[in-house]
Amino acid sequence: MKNKNYNNMDLEELSEFIESIGEKKFRAKQLFQGIHKNKYYGIDEFTNFSLSLREKLKKHGNIVPSKIYNKLESKLDKTRKYLIELNDGNIIESVYMEYSTHNTICISSQVGCKMGCTFCASTKQKFVRNLEPYELLNQVYTVQKDIGKRISNIVLMGIGEPLDNYDNIIKFIKILSNKDGYNISLRNITLSTCGIVPKIYELAEENLPINMTISLHNPFDNERKKIMPIEKKYNIKEIVDSTKYYFEKTGRRISFEYTLIEGVNDSYKHALELRNIIRGMNCHINLIPLNKIREFNENSSSKDAINKFKNNLEKLGLNATVRKSLGQDISGACGQLRAAHIIK
Ligand code: SAH
Repeated sequence: MKNKNYNNMDLEELSEFIESIGEKKFRAKQLFQGIHKNKYYGIDEFTNFSLSLREKLKKHGNIVPSKIYNKLESKLDKTRKYLIELNDGNIIESVYMEYSTHNTICISSQVGCKMGCTFCASTKQKFVRNLEPYELLNQVYTVQKDIGKRISNIVLMGIGEPLDNYDNIIKFIKILSNKDGYNISLRNITLSTCGIVPKIYELAEENLPINMTISLHNPFDNERKKIMPIEKKYNIKEIVDSTKYYFEKTGRRISFEYTLIEGVNDSYKHALELRNIIRGMNCHINLIPLNKIREFNENSSSKDAINKFKNNLEKLGLNATVRKSLGQDISGACGQLRAAHIIK
C-alpha cells in the first residue's frame, strides 16, 4: 500500500485507492483536481483536506515532482529549452515555443530512443527507459509554472518514439484532457511518429482524436531505409494506408514531416513520388530544414532548394509549409534534443 504515486494515477485508480483507505469517493476527485487543475505539488497544499487526511495520504504515497535542472533561453526567438531531471537522475528535454496566437511545449516520451534515425540526436545515446505518465505530465506542469501562463498546445516530438511507449502516452493524454484536470482539447495535442504501423491502427480506435504527424523524409522505400531503420519493418505504403485509416476514424488531417537534406531527398523526382504516394489524401506536408547535429555529416538543403521543393509540391497540388526552426542556438530545434544522465 505504501508509496503510491498519486500523480501517476487516473481518476478511477484514485477512486479505488481512496475507498480502500476508508475515505469517501469524492475525495478522489478533489485529489485529482488538486494535482492536475490546481497544480499542487505536495499534499500539504490540500488545505481543503483535514490534517488527519493529509497525514494519511502522506503515509501511503506522494506527488512526485520533476525538477528543472537547467534552462536555456534562445537569443534568436522566445524559445526556451528545459533540461528536466527525473527522480532517478535521468535528464530529458522539453522545449517551450511562443507564437503570436498560441504557445506550445514539445515534450519527450522516452529517455533515449531505439529508432536509430541517422540524422537525429535523440537516438545517439542508448535507450534507457520509457517515461511514466506522471513524467509526461510533469513536463507540461513544470514548464507552465516556470513561464507563468497556460500552455495551449502539446506536441509529442521531443526525445523518443511516442508509439513505442504506447500505454503511458494514452494514459497521459486521457489525464491531460480530463475535464476535471488540465482539460486540454485533444485538437491541441499532436503526436509525431516514425511510423509504427500497428500502433497507428490501435490509436485510431481509442476515441482520442489527436493530430497525427508522420516522419516520412523520403518517398522511396530503398532510400528511406538508409536513414530510418524502422522502414525495414513497415514500408511507406503500409504507413500511408494506416494514416488513411486514422483519418477516416478520427477526422483529423494527417501531416507528413519531411526534413530536407541537400542532394539526398530534395529533387523533383522526390517531389513527384511524394505526390504519388499521398495522392488524394487530405494532408499537409511540413518541410523542415535539416538541423545540424555532430553525428550526421550531411547539410540542409539551401533556402532556394527548399523553396523550389515547396513550389514543386504546390504545383503538384499538395499543401506544404516550411517549418520555422526555433531555438537552434540552444540545440532546441527538431532532432537536436538528447537525453543526458547526471553522474552523481
Ligand atoms: N520519434 C518521433 C518524434 C521525434 S522527432 C518521430 O520520429 O516522429 C521529431 C521530428 O524531428 C521528426 O519528424 C524527426 O524526423 C525530425 N528530426 C529529427 N532529426 C532532425 C534533424 N536533425 N533536423 C530536422 N528534423 C529532424
